[in-house]
Amino acid sequence: MTKSAKGTVEQPGKNVKQKSGLNRVLLDLSVNEFVRQLEYKSRWYGRELIKVNPAYTSQTCSNCGYVAKENRKSQSEFSCARCGHSENADYNAAKNILGRGLSCYREC
Ligand SMILES: [Zn+2]
Repeated sequence: MTKSAKGTVEQPGKNVKQKSGLNRVLLDLSVNEFVRQLEYKSRWYGRELIKVNPAYTSQTCSNCGYVAKENRKSQSEFSCARCGHSENADYNAAKNILGRGLSCYREC
């Protein structure tokens, strides 16, 4: 449903700007619904949901904290330019998100 409407050079899509806006709204609604469900389920099970700012979590080294765009070698590969720490990029970002949540939990 949210597939890009750009088309190709030979066959450009029609109403690309309008479809792009619709796609953005649909994806935002999906995220909002996911967060709403997380809040609901957290309350249901007596758990606390902590929202963290995800900015730069995929570019931050979970080992030394160094932030750089070049740390992210590809969609799935993370390798720190400072300390050499290397692992799956999603796993590295998840550690950063966990760290932010735990620090917020301690300070909040
Ligand atoms: Zn590092």
